[in-house]
Amino acid sequence: MNFTPHGKHLIAGNWTSGDAIFSSSPAHGPSHDYAVGRVEDVDAAVQAAEDAFWDYGYSSREVRAEFLNTIADEIEARAAAITEIGTQETGLPEARLQGERGRTTGQLRLFASHILAGDYLDRRHDGALPDRQPLPRPDLKMVQRPIGPVAVFGASNFPLAFSTAGGDTAAALAAGCPVVVKGHSAHPGTGEIIAEAIAAAIRKCNLQPGVFSMIQGGNRAVGAALVQHPLIKAVGFTGSLAGGRALFDLCASRPEPIPFFGELGSVNPMFILNNALHARGEAIGKGWAASLSMGAGQFCTNPGIAVVCAGEAGEAFATAACQALGDVTAQTMLTDGIASAYRDGQRQIAETSGVQELLVSMCDQRDATPYLYRTTAKNWLNNHALAEEVFGPLGLIVEAENEAEMRKIALSLQGQLTCTLHMDDSDLPAAAALMPIFERKAGRILANGFPTGVEVSDTMVHGGPYPASTNFGATSVGTLSIRRFLRPVCYQNLPAELVPERQA
Ligand code: NAP
Repeated sequence: MNFTPHGKHLIAGNWTSGDAIFSSSPAHGPSHDYAVGRVEDVDAAVQAAEDAFWDYGYSSREVRAEFLNTIADEIEARAAAITEIGTQETGLPEARLQGERGRTTGQLRLFASHILAGDYLDRRHDGALPDRQPLPRPDLKMVQRPIGPVAVFGASNFPLAFSTAGGDTAAALAAGCPVVVKGHSAHPGTGEIIAEAIAAAIRKCNLQPGVFSMIQGGNRAVGAALVQHPLIKAVGFTGSLAGGRALFDLCASRPEPIPFFGELGSVNPMFILNNALHARGEAIGKGWAASLSMGAGQFCTNPGIAVVCAGEAGEAFATAACQALGDVTAQTMLTDGIASAYRDGQRQIAETSGVQELLVSMCDQRDATPYLYRTTAKNWLNNHALAEEVFGPLGLIVEAENEAEMRKIALSLQGQLTCTLHMDDSDLPAAAALMPIFERKAGRILANGFPTGVEVSDTMVHGGPYPASTNFGATSVGTLSIRRFLRPVCYQNLPAELVPERQA
């Protein structure tokens, strides 16, 4: 299938545009023109989503499961064209786009089977106790209900699995919530072809077209208008700390504040405990280098900091990581903006006193190779800037004097998506001392692995205390993410016919 983007917004089944356009900046291949989103487009899309909610929010789980499976089929029907435009826009390799497409359709199908199973409804029942003294108890039932139209901001680094039909959209549609996507300006053509697939699924399933709309960007007023629209009831966002915080603050300052589920930055520290460091420090160093440089380091779970005890074994770890990173060839970053932020972050680390450069590298235009730095725990603890995420293949080794100093580092961490332990059995006491700290800092704790590669499953938590996410009770990956778009309602003494999702 050949695909040439027409550059329009999809608003409730109609492809529309205005006068203003912006041009895409693909990593390679032709640039295309796209309609700039306007506030009136936001209003039309959200109003249509609200109208559609009165049907879609009350549709059966079978109907929604069929819709999710049909979207997956429609994406697969456009597989080659999606890979072509996706690789052009993002510079990501073909194999990565193909794998991500599988993850995207797998996620949609997982949500279909998840809602059919019904456990997510968390149905509870306290039967009536009419003879209870001193007061009778009424009949009480509880079930989770969809909240209404949801706004989704896709991620630049996952143009498929975290974008137009990605995890946020799949979770909201599964819950029964219509979705309005703010297209990411880093991959507008990929967004368009995926929106086309969703529109085709809407038609095949005979749903109201307002169930899904996508408005292209090119204008920050679009995102601001979307999160402030009175009919939007929640926002799913993956992106930068600055952008996420600005939109979160707008949500909080609305006359009716709404939840903003933002996945923001994280440095995902690894703590390499002493016995593991002595036994296999070099292997861990090589593994770290591979995880750190994968996809030009543009993963939210990129392990940017490694904490080790200073000494010979720590030196061997650093040498192995440095050699492996030195072999990594230049990779294209997702956007000019991300490449420029990478250069700024690298400069800030390099210019901090007490930081030693282990691997001199480069970031030329949009191409980047890895950097590696080292500092002491004391210096790290005194320089907050060293704890900030640098989005890209940049590693910082923090050398502690002992495991007590490692705990000080753990205690001073901001909220993280992940914290990783490298440990042997004999490291158990040191690991146990870190665990209560990690549990307060991170959404996911790993042992003897690397945090890149996030399983989409029932148990996954991709979230954590701020700034990893703006809502530490939630995850944006896995089936638990549906909870973000549901609200518990209690039904007291209502006739059974009026209680939704009654148990068979
Ligand atoms: P971004 O600049 O925050 O953009 C994300 C989206 O929000 C885009 O659609 C953007 O619109 C919009 N936006 C940003 N600021 C806005 C504002 N003030 N008002 C209205 N809309 C606004 O992030 P990015 O460049 O796509 O991604 C890079 C960053 O994402 C990295 O810094 C990384 O830390 C973070 N990230 C986090 C995760 C995670 O799961 N935690 C995953 C991947 C990336 P435009 O398209 O118009 O610019």
